[in-house]
Amino acid sequence: MSVEKTLAMIKPDALERGKQGLIIDRILTNGFKITAMKQMRLTRVQAEAFYKEHAERPFFDSLCSYMTSGPIIALVMEKENAIKDWRDLMGATDPTEADAGTIRKDFAESKERNSSHGSDSPQSAHREVPFFFSQLER
Ligand code: UDP
Ligand code: MG
Repeated sequence: MSVEKTLAMIKPDALERGKQGLIIDRILTNGFKITAMKQMRLTRVQAEAFYKEHAERPFFDSLCSYMTSGPIIALVMEKENAIKDWRDLMGATDPTEADAGTIRKDFAESKERNSSHGSDSPQSAHREVPFFFSQLER
């Protein structure tokens, strides 16, 4: 295992319900160091670019509408094995399939409105961290 950085987002549904503080508390309690964090509202062009790997999927249009419906919080988080550990802490994409105690189980509203994002591989983290943060910020 090595110290990694991963890109997380707290998604619009969680901010809409004021859950961002509880989610950040779980991040810190689980040993992640937050090295950068900002709240912003994505433009349609930014949401489409971020999720471009899903451009051909049937949920893409709805996903991009949801992701631009309100502010998100983007975070760079650092820890040993951060990429997989954050995926595990989030739980499955669909909250009905997520394990007990995971963020999506406890906070998500639906498979789309699932409260959080995490890079799914070192390659994704390498693309997603600089999508949000310049070298000086992270
Ligand atoms: N999503 C959706 N319907 C689906 C699959 C995904 O609305 O059938 C949304 C959901 O918000 C998910 C995002 O698209 O988090 C990206 O999908 P991905 O398969 O990459 O899931 P993740 O990596 O976020 O678990
Ligand atoms: Mg994904």
